[in-house]
Amino acid sequence: MDLFEYQGKQFFGSFDIPVSRGRAVTTVDDAVAAAEEIGQYPVVVKAQVQVGGRGKAGGIKLADNADEVRTYASDIIGMDIKGHTVHVVWIEVASDIAEEYYASFTLDRSAKKHLGMLSAQGGVEIETVAETDPDAIAKIWIDPVDGLSESVAREWVEAAKLNPDATDGAVDILLKLYRAYTEGDADLVEINPLILKPTGEVHALDAKVTLDGNAAFRHDWADYEATQERDVREQAAHEKGLQYVGLEGSVGIIANGAGLAMSTLDVVNQVGGSASNFLDIGGGADAEVMTGALEVINNDPSVKAIFINIFGGITRGEEVANGIVEALNRVTIDSPIVIRLDGTNADEGRSILEPHLSDSLQMQPTMLDAARKVVELAG
Ligand code: GDP
Ligand code: MN
Repeated sequence: MDLFEYQGKQFFGSFDIPVSRGRAVTTVDDAVAAAEEIGQYPVVVKAQVQVGGRGKAGGIKLADNADEVRTYASDIIGMDIKGHTVHVVWIEVASDIAEEYYASFTLDRSAKKHLGMLSAQGGVEIETVAETDPDAIAKIWIDPVDGLSESVAREWVEAAKLNPDATDGAVDILLKLYRAYTEGDADLVEINPLILKPTGEVHALDAKVTLDGNAAFRHDWADYEATQERDVREQAAHEKGLQYVGLEGSVGIIANGAGLAMSTLDVVNQVGGSASNFLDIGGGADAEVMTGALEVINNDPSVKAIFINIFGGITRGEEVANGIVEALNRVTIDSPIVIRLDGTNADEGRSILEPHLSDSLQMQPTMLDAARKVVELAG
């Protein structure tokens, strides 16, 4: 789950990371009122979209008075930044900047450790720094069992060659940022730029946070959840509790289990097709779940054929087959369906499906055969 900057700052604030005082608003009048309430100019008017490079795109402006806030807010609200429309602007007290740095934590899956990146070259995209001057990024790998100690953080800051004036402030923020990342259950926390002020304070001027949706039950993330931007197909699937990711192709896929769903995508690709989605219906393949899954896929105009790939485990073949038959009684599906059913009690399941088979509901003995057939039907 990706947060907007203002939410990321709220998240950082709850871990005591210094951020600028500000307010999120959705109208020009509220932007002016917010600036007046902040009571101190200049303020920064910042477009809230989940994409980088807002500054370059004209989505970040310093305003010296209420009139300028009005001008910039009306320019920015409704602006399109790389395909994202601005609905919210964040107004915050402007900061004086002596230097701009970069700091982040993410998971390095192959190393099975947390990866911290720190650079004295901030305010530009880290990918650019990685290309032009990779040595300018100081990396550390942190064993989650050990955590990040103050002495390691200090060595890390020294290795990144920040201004010595920034050392104490940076160490303090990095320790807090690591706590936000681990205790806050984030997959990514990034501050770019992390600034050194002329006064010597270190401060987060931007916030990019991705939370781990699997940890939502441990937190109160309702406000963050409410503003998630989903593609309409993903929204519909989400409301039905389905694990769904929209893709660009023409073969709709329903499988039970994330591993099988991914293999199904691969096999469809292998035989020259392309999937329109990833959809894992999980363990239970009853009529309710199957109906929901078929509805979501049926509403996607790019789908030309549907592949139902089920491997019975705890859910037995006859339950799956009954679920599919019942689902097809409830919804009318526009595209032909190809089923592959294997695993526990597959034979019983297949005999239940047998009398219902037609040109628009076909069955194939193996995953590869089914993939070939469905790709052929998708044209
Ligand atoms: P991004 O372009 O989407 O990453 O947005 P940022 O929030 O990182 O802002 C981009 C740039 O705008 C920063 O690197 C700063 O140079 C500048 N900027 C943002 N806030 C302030 C501020 O309070 N004061 C000053 N002087 N510059 C700012
Ligand atoms: Mn930034």
